[in-house]
Amino acid sequence: MHYRLSTDPVLPHYIAIEARLTDIKTPEVELQLPAWRPGRYELQQFAKNIQRFTIVDGAGQPLPFRKITKDRWLVQTNGATELTAYYNYYSLLPTPHQLNAGSSFISDTLLYVNPVNLCLYAEGRIGESCTLSLEIPNSWTIACGLKQSDAKTLVAADFYELVDCPLIAAPVIQHIPFEVKGVQFHIWIQGGRRSDGNPTFDGQRIIQDFSRFAEKQIELYGEFPEQDYHFLTLILPVPYYHGVEHRNSTVLVLGPNDEGEGLHQDLLGVSSHELFHAWNIIRIRPTELLPYDFTQENYFPTCFVAEGVTTYYGDLMLRQSGVFTDEAYLKELQVLFKRHFENNGRAFQSLVESSWDLWLDGYDKGVPDRKVSVYHKGAIAALILDLHIRKLTNHSRSLDDVMHIMWERFGKPFVGYTLNDYRSVTEDVAGESLDWYYDLCIFGNRPLETKLNEYLIWVGLAVIYEAPSLDQPGGIRLLELDEAGNSRQHRAQWFGGRLSEAPHEGHAELIPEDKLGKNVVAK
Ligand SMILES: [Zn+2]
Repeated sequence: MHYRLSTDPVLPHYIAIEARLTDIKTPEVELQLPAWRPGRYELQQFAKNIQRFTIVDGAGQPLPFRKITKDRWLVQTNGATELTAYYNYYSLLPTPHQLNAGSSFISDTLLYVNPVNLCLYAEGRIGESCTLSLEIPNSWTIACGLKQSDAKTLVAADFYELVDCPLIAAPVIQHIPFEVKGVQFHIWIQGGRRSDGNPTFDGQRIIQDFSRFAEKQIELYGEFPEQDYHFLTLILPVPYYHGVEHRNSTVLVLGPNDEGEGLHQDLLGVSSHELFHAWNIIRIRPTELLPYDFTQENYFPTCFVAEGVTTYYGDLMLRQSGVFTDEAYLKELQVLFKRHFENNGRAFQSLVESSWDLWLDGYDKGVPDRKVSVYHKGAIAALILDLHIRKLTNHSRSLDDVMHIMWERFGKPFVGYTLNDYRSVTEDVAGESLDWYYDLCIFGNRPLETKLNEYLIWVGLAVIYEAPSLDQPGGIRLLELDEAGNSRQHRAQWFGGRLSEAPHEGHAELIPEDKLGKNVVAK
């Protein structure tokens, strides 16, 4: 399929699409628009954004067609060997809040496309190569993970690659390239100007911080799945925090552009998380999602691995690589604990049930006490498992070994894993049965405070519930405990090194004395 995107001349808030299919050998063709996008496991019904739709043959003669589902068109080819579908896609989002890391947008100064929103595929031909041409001014820059065949044309090996490669095209995009362990990384920033005209981010600081956590992640897995990787970043004037993972890229939408240090921290947090996905879910993929079925729900029970383990490692990698101080990491942990225990710490559903029901209400607030977050409870479950393995083996093994084996066994050969596969890898690494862990943390719905504290105390931390008082609103707090046993030593090893060693030359001491305050305050 060959796609051409342009501004709709009649309705400039729509992207106009031509999708041309050649080498047709059948009397009928079925054209399908995806009903959902990888990274968000709910039906989004992109077809509702299409306003007009026509199909012609190679000579420009209309071909008869009709819809056979909400987003599938049956075309009579009448012997034609070529057809072109002309349609448009609504892309003027009414407020900046609706522009997110999974949508598409067009204006005089930005073309932002998630191809999964608006590219049709022909049934039976999803594995064929495709091209995507953009009608944009010559002076614009394109940022995208796809290879280019010319200045305005991108090439994908198949539809799966196409829809895993969003793009930004604009007259001005800040480009920050760097290399880590032979992998070319590119940070592309659109809209990155503060209201005083200065750049939102310090490029040198970004390169230093990104290089550290990228190197740490590549060390964990032993290799990077791709030759290059692109952080496609849109900066908005309003508060925003969203990222979506892709094959060799990620889209990040952040704001406000004037936030300063907070925005840099947000960029680090979301970028480390999304990069970890380059292995965990893009390649280490639940078998139920391999291949993606874009027409309907793809139920899977393991989003606590895909999102929970990734949420846990996103921040931990920032600490282990020395980008975050102990204090910065502990603040993130406290935020995680607050989000889980103050919101759905006593919810009815287990992690496996909540994963399954992502397709039902996974991204809504939901009714009270019904579901748990696969992100937050999933990250806490990952933390418990990591500390359990470390405690059993005196840090000679950890969740790192689990993920490394998951990569070698399922990600690198790209064969998909089941819940039982993950369970058996975790039990192999622990060297013992983890029935208690799966019963309590993965299949169970009992609160986790007690079990979590068993492990936090081992590293000199504890979660408590503090009653409200006149001075403060109360709630979940993370405390640093007085030294007991080797708790500081264990925490230092968990954080990536020994007490006396800094992870990077010139970086602050791992646990400086002035950070050993009693109370860690959430940001
Ligand atoms: Zn994620």
